[in-house]
Amino acid sequence: MSHVMDTYARLPVAFERGEGSWLWDANGKRYLDAMSGVAVCGLGHGHPKYVAALRDQVGRLVHTSNLYRITLQEKLAERLAAISGMENVFFCNSGCEANEAAIKLARLYGHKKNVEAPAIVVLEKAFHGRTIATLSATGSRKVQAGFEPLLAGFVRVPFDDLDAVRRVAEGNRSVVAVLVELLQGEGGVNVCHEGYLRGLREICDAHDWLLMLDEVQSGMGRTGKWFAFQHSGVMPDVMPLAKGLGNGVPIGACLAAGPAAHLFKPGNHGSTFGGNPLACAAALATIDIIEEERLMENAVKTGDFIRAELARQIGGLKGVREIRGKGLMIGIELEHPCGELVQQALDRGMLINVTVDHVIRLLPPLNFKTEEAGLLLATLVPLVTQFLDRQAASQAAAQTA
Ligand code: PLP
Repeated sequence: MSHVMDTYARLPVAFERGEGSWLWDANGKRYLDAMSGVAVCGLGHGHPKYVAALRDQVGRLVHTSNLYRITLQEKLAERLAAISGMENVFFCNSGCEANEAAIKLARLYGHKKNVEAPAIVVLEKAFHGRTIATLSATGSRKVQAGFEPLLAGFVRVPFDDLDAVRRVAEGNRSVVAVLVELLQGEGGVNVCHEGYLRGLREICDAHDWLLMLDEVQSGMGRTGKWFAFQHSGVMPDVMPLAKGLGNGVPIGACLAAGPAAHLFKPGNHGSTFGGNPLACAAALATIDIIEEERLMENAVKTGDFIRAELARQIGGLKGVREIRGKGLMIGIELEHPCGELVQQALDRGMLINVTVDHVIRLLPPLNFKTEEAGLLLATLVPLVTQFLDRQAASQAAAQTA
């Protein structure tokens, strides 16, 4: 019997070693990693420069405390401010904590404006984490079920619908912020329309709301820019980050600008581990490598190639609804639940994911090579085609029965 709590329906495999886009299990079988630990290991596994930076830092200093200054934390905050255009940073250890910080900032901001019960606009299909506050912000009943009462103070609207946000703005004086993923990850790799962010910015400006963009999954180069918002040239006020920031060493960050940047005062918020020397060394090395090796360019090039090939090879097949995404955040929406494909891919030595039952999600490392993309397609396309054939056959059988 396992002594690990049953929170995941884990696949029957454990990895012992990794190199680049490849993982090896205990039997020496190798797997092409098209998941990067769910958008975490953007540099792939065992990147020599990253490993050297970590080794060096482990030997020097792992942890002190936020009771003292942390030089690497200050350096990382400066670096993050430079690449994002944001002003300052609160460090934590995960995506849900980064969102918790954003929610707390919004509430402080609201109280400063004398709003008694500040509320935040959130979206359907959103995923913001598993703490009570962030699961309440999440737009999935599956995530929330069993954990009621949910936290009050969230107003939900459909994804990518500016009119719905405008209606809330007209009717609800308690709203002080919006919290959105521009590119929804867990919700099915949903991409908003071109003018959505600009529209949100206008609504936020007109009503003095904070524009808070959850870039936990879409950030750190995944979409081909450091952050997904940079495709549009519109700035947020608050931006939670995590996942790819430390390439696997846990670190989260909540970046703020303008009216959100100086709300926290000593004693308002904190984290024992947040931004410790080891985590910050990991993040600094990650940023350096993404920049030096032009990994964002690779994310655009390889992501475009994979999507174009998928469109060419399976895009027109009955049962394929849409192929979408940005950079190396890729979704293939099928008409039918297709969770079985994950095990079938694993059997063939490849790691993929299926989210919201019917969207195949690919999140390969940012340095995924063209040959690896070719291999991914050569494995995935027949799996999807055979799956669609089985669906068609069972539908035909049901019709004749
Ligand atoms: N926000 C987004 C957009 C995410 O995709 C996730 C995790 O998948 C989270 C927040 C939660 O992050 P964590 O699991 O590190 O708490």
